[in-house]
Amino acid sequence: MATYIALAVVAGLAVGVGNYITEDLGFRLCTFMERHGQMKRLAPGTKRLYMDHPVSNVWTVAAPYILLYYIVSRFMWSQISSTMYFSLAPWDIWPFLWCAMVAHDAWFFGMHMFFHKVKPVYMYVHSQHHQIGSAITALGTAFGDALDIGLCFVAFHLVLGVYLYFQPAWNIAAVVLLIIFEVGTNILGHCGYEAPLWLHATITAGVGLTPLAATSKSHFLHHIDPRYNRSLYFTWWDRLCGTYRENHPLIFEGAR
Ligand SMILES: [Zn+2]
Ligand SMILES: [Zn+2]
Repeated sequence: MATYIALAVVAGLAVGVGNYITEDLGFRLCTFMERHGQMKRLAPGTKRLYMDHPVSNVWTVAAPYILLYYIVSRFMWSQISSTMYFSLAPWDIWPFLWCAMVAHDAWFFGMHMFFHKVKPVYMYVHSQHHQIGSAITALGTAFGDALDIGLCFVAFHLVLGVYLYFQPAWNIAAVVLLIIFEVGTNILGHCGYEAPLWLHATITAGVGLTPLAATSKSHFLHHIDPRYNRSLYFTWWDRLCGTYRENHPLIFEGAR
């Protein structure tokens, strides 16, 4: 049992540190591209406040992943490792990424609506993340409660793990890439910049080219006005539920 816990702690902390390093790189990339005229701040007038809390951000991501990896290594690994294979073939990866993001978008939207609709849940679980307000930067992506990240992201990964448990075969490369592109897309939604199309397409693994996909503006607008844009990868659920908003006076006109 001690081995399972040690493995889970190491793997969970690796995801937490990896997420923080990616947030830091994302922030540096945005400011570098802004200096060279390649990226525009979505809301040039808002106060720029950098929520740089490495210990908090690392722990917020690591804590729920430690729990997930403990459950997977203790109860599921012997089965799912026997059906695992490795393939970098695009047809073995991309359809999985797209379907997983569609499923995760529905999960995220439902959970995020729950956070906003039930006031005590908002207070104790989600309000910390909204402290970053409209002054959001890549470094604020994981600024929040561990339960927030745990319910919106890690719990979905547990469901995904259970799904893979029952599959005759599954590609570990596709799952690792899903986590990487998920982290990238989430950071993109918090960067506060309008991403050029090539960057948006790259960071979302091309899934962001799907009709009515969310852009960096979508989640930025959610932080300006939390009544709107509660989806993650697409705007479908927000449009269906009447919670979609395209523009805001703080955001420069014509932003994508
Ligand atoms: Zn956010
Ligand atoms: Zn929210």
